[in-house]
Amino acid sequence: MKKHTIACIFAHPDDESFGPSGTLIKLAKQGHDVYVITATKGQAGQSSNKKITGDLGSHRAQELNKACKIMGINPPILLEFFDGTLNEHQLPLLKKRILDEINKIKPEVIIVYERGGISYHLDHIAVTKAMLTIYDEGLYKSKKLYYFGLPSSLSKQIGRESTLNDERLAVIDVSDQMPIKIKAMKAHESQEKDYVRIIERLKAMSKGEYFEYFSLARSEIESLVFPESDLLAGLK
Ligand SMILES: [Zn+2]
Repeated sequence: MKKHTIACIFAHPDDESFGPSGTLIKLAKQGHDVYVITATKGQAGQSSNKKITGDLGSHRAQELNKACKIMGINPPILLEFFDGTLNEHQLPLLKKRILDEINKIKPEVIIVYERGGISYHLDHIAVTKAMLTIYDEGLYKSKKLYYFGLPSSLSKQIGRESTLNDERLAVIDVSDQMPIKIKAMKAHESQEKDYVRIIERLKAMSKGEYFEYFSLARSEIESLVFPESDLLAGLK
C-alpha cells in the first residue's frame, strides 16, 4: 500500500479532536502520514476547568500535543497567530504561513472546516478561506481538498445550516475509532465543558455507529464516485 500524506488546517487546539479525529486516527492506523496545522494556541479562550491556571496558550499547546500523540499522528505544527484575531486583515499573512508549512509536508489531501466554520467562529472561517484561496490561486493544489462538517439532514437536527455539498460527500465510518477519539477530546482538559457537551451530542445522534462527514471542495481527479467512504479514493 502506498503511504499518503494528509493535513488538517484549523484555528485552535481542540478543533482537530472535536472535529475529524476519528478519520485522522483511522488514516494513521493505516500507516499514512497525518499532520495537524493549528493557527493559534487558543490563548483567548477560557478554561472551563478550574484546576488549570497560568498561561492558557502554552497549556492548550500541550493539550494539542497530547491529543496528537493519542491519535497516533505527527506532532502538531503551530503557526503562533493570536487566538481571536484571524480575519480579513490577517489573510495575506495567514496564507503565507499555511503555504510555508504545506510546501514542506506536501499533503495530497487537505481538510478544513466547512465554509461556515462549523460554529461561525471568525477564526475558523478565516482559516478555511485562506486555504481555499491558496488552492484557487494555484499556489498549492492538493489532490483533494475537503470541508469537514455535517450534511444538511444532520445539520437541521441541531438547528444549523449546512454548507457541505450533499452531492460530493465522503462518509467515513469511525465507529471503531470512537474510544480513541473520546480520549483525544479529553486531552483538551481546559475545554472540559465543550467536550462533555460534544460527547453527549455525538451519543444522542448516534445509533451505535459513528460517522464523520466531509464534502469534496476541490479536486482535479476525475471519475470520483460519491458518496466516498475513503478520503484517499482516487489517489495513486
Ligand atoms: Zn476552534
